[in-house]
Amino acid sequence: MSIQWFPGHMHLTRQAIAERVKEIDVVIEMLDARLPGSSANPLMQQLTSGRPTLKVLNKQDMADPARTALWLAHYNAQPDTRAIALDASVTAPARALIDACFELAPRRGGMVKPMRVLICGIPNVGKSTLINTLKGKRAAKTGDEAGVTRTEARIALADDFYLYDTPGMLWPRIFVPESGYNLAASGAVGKNAYDEEEVAYELIAKLKTDYPQLMEARYQLGLSPEAWAQTHDDELVEAIGRKRGALAGGGRVNMQKAAELVIADFRALHIGRITLETPEQFARWLKAGKQA
Ligand code: GDP
Repeated sequence: MSIQWFPGHMHLTRQAIAERVKEIDVVIEMLDARLPGSSANPLMQQLTSGRPTLKVLNKQDMADPARTALWLAHYNAQPDTRAIALDASVTAPARALIDACFELAPRRGGMVKPMRVLICGIPNVGKSTLINTLKGKRAAKTGDEAGVTRTEARIALADDFYLYDTPGMLWPRIFVPESGYNLAASGAVGKNAYDEEEVAYELIAKLKTDYPQLMEARYQLGLSPEAWAQTHDDELVEAIGRKRGALAGGGRVNMQKAAELVIADFRALHIGRITLETPEQFARWLKAGKQA
């Protein structure tokens, strides 16, 4: 697999975060609720060691609620860690985030000891959207393209609450192939960084076993959940392509187009609310990755 996403500015980000963390009370780590483990930055733990951490499972509106509950329980069981799920564009839950910070650092607050919070997250996780929501007006730039660099900014959310935005993104090497596929499927990495067809096939292989009912509801192939799980990926892609008119010459299915259709449907929420990994699965991938 050839997924590459380590632009030079990420080195700078690492240094900037290490500096900034020294005077920070709470770290907000934004994660994509559809892939919490894979959208985390393994280096963050090292850089923020000892700091109370609020894990924000963003885009919960797109994620499978049952799996989101598993992830919240998983993180809330960790020391000095709290987790909340939210949709960054909704105002009320964003408020819950400020409350959670005060719970994590109860001795902060007031003009003398203002709360200092650093917000981190991989590209496209929704950081700008959340900051905008918290500020109550559009200021940070939001966009769909991954990896847009921004300069660090201190944002006063209240007289005694400072939010520090991180410049650029921190993204170390990926040593878990499954994470690479999930990140690519979610759109977290730029289009040029991966083979779309390969990513689509990985996605289909996962969806046919984990979400066969949603797949049937979307593509209407007349298959039972068991049949979805047991049918070869190529056959599924072919059937989906035929159904959806992704055809090449001579009535043949354009397999690449058909496979990519599924990625587009997944991202657009046309298949349904899906989470690509459970805490248990992710732990297993990590273990296998470290042994490899
Ligand atoms: P950033 O790179 O982390 O700053 O990400 P952005 O704030 O630019 O968001 C990336 C994309 O995700 C944008 O298209 C947002 O509209 C979308 N987005 C952000 N938060 C959410 C969310 O909670 N739910 C949904 N459905 N989309 C979101």
